[in-house]
Amino acid sequence: MKKNDKFTVTIEDMGEDGAGIGRVDGYIWFVKDALIGDTIEASAMKMKKNYGFARLVRVITPAKGRVEAKCPVARACGGCQLQELDYKEQLKFKEKKVYNHLKRIGGMENLFLPEEAEQAAGVPDAVVMEPIIGMEDPWRYRNKAQYPIGREKDGKPTAGFFAGRTHSLIPVPELDCLLGCAENKDYLAAVLKFMEDFGVEPYDEANHKGLVRHVLLRKGFASGEHMVCLVINGKKLPHEKEFIGRMREAGADSISLSFNMEKTNVILGTEIKNLYGPGYITDKIGNIEYRISPLSFYQVNPVQTERLYGTALEFADLNGGETVWDLYCGIGTISSFLAQKAGKVCGVEIIPAAIEDARENAKRNGLDNVEFFVGKAEEVLPEQYEKNHIKADVIVVDPPRKGCDELCLETIVKMAPEKVVYVSCDSSTLARDVKYLGENGYAVKRVRTVDMFGMSGHVETVCLLSRKAQ
Ligand code: SAH
Repeated sequence: MKKNDKFTVTIEDMGEDGAGIGRVDGYIWFVKDALIGDTIEASAMKMKKNYGFARLVRVITPAKGRVEAKCPVARACGGCQLQELDYKEQLKFKEKKVYNHLKRIGGMENLFLPEEAEQAAGVPDAVVMEPIIGMEDPWRYRNKAQYPIGREKDGKPTAGFFAGRTHSLIPVPELDCLLGCAENKDYLAAVLKFMEDFGVEPYDEANHKGLVRHVLLRKGFASGEHMVCLVINGKKLPHEKEFIGRMREAGADSISLSFNMEKTNVILGTEIKNLYGPGYITDKIGNIEYRISPLSFYQVNPVQTERLYGTALEFADLNGGETVWDLYCGIGTISSFLAQKAGKVCGVEIIPAAIEDARENAKRNGLDNVEFFVGKAEEVLPEQYEKNHIKADVIVVDPPRKGCDELCLETIVKMAPEKVVYVSCDSSTLARDVKYLGENGYAVKRVRTVDMFGMSGHVETVCLLSRKAQ
């Protein structure tokens, strides 16, 4: 077999990112956009010793659950991986992925899928996963979009998304991504028109020239407020006044610039210049109100976030007097949820702007039993433990994809809380950390997945770990 050779393969499995996996004469092929159960014609792209990558040429026999993609660029765009899979099947895929990780990496021999409850009966210490919490409508759920700006073939500025694993820009049809809110296209059109009218150049990665890199758009789904933040390769936007006027006309409540002059894949620079509005938008989850600055992390799917936090709160099972630490707290979203039921909540977060938001949010909601620390969880927690002998009844962690630093886990074990509630956006690092905690006195009691990212391969998991009797 060599590059561009065509062959037939039946897909038997799906990889982490949703790519189909099939075998031909024992050799493993990864085929993007191919689904379990599909028989396809594929074309070889890249070959390694034991496995290779191929392109889907055509589906010969479609899998059960194969549906037509709603978006015409679903395959080319790197944003969605599972659009051609029926939503119910997407949920099953995600649940199974978490299950496999916890079993294989986490060593959880006692774990069962929800549909295996009968098999689990009679197994000592069996943990049956609770059914995944899916969305009623898996479209237009995102409150945040970050569009790279580039050029059309004819040179005109355009907005799009990067193709999977590359930085070639796929223009979004009609500027309307179906995962984002419908108003995004109006803001994008206004930005592009402004660029055309005033000759403001899009950024070009190849030579690090040009000005406009990304447009960050956010909407408070509960408040209806809109944020526009233009990321530029420079310190000055020409015709700034006109830009503000155009964005206000489009309906923006908060307008800002982010300066990013680095040669980097990181989207936002660290410096923000506020152009109009208070420097943030507000939103509500449950009965808690939040303010959100451009640099702060905020969950992208507010409907499912309420369910995610609800699950974390249920797992924490607080009765009013507990001291809770909320590590990787962002703008204090989970902290505020917990504070309504706990004695005291302490949050730790690395981004100073997010902690400013967190403190403001606590005030806004009249919560006086929360305290926030700026810094790395793996530094703040050990330091507070050594110096101030802090205690915790419950520790909640919600780390980024790379999971918890071992120093952080080590300190958690030393602090010996009754419960650890682990909220995770990457089940492979969750499984690694669960293994560590399992070897150091904790056992997983409950697991539930929540789908925050329909059409993509990502899934959120909440895990309750309890301290084993000594
Ligand atoms: N719990 C919050 C945020 C979760 S996202 C929410 O649900 O909204 C993870 C957060 O961890 C981000 O805000 C990120 O800035 C922060 N973070 C990343 N590395 C960190 C570290 N080493 N220590 C503390 N916070 C960190």
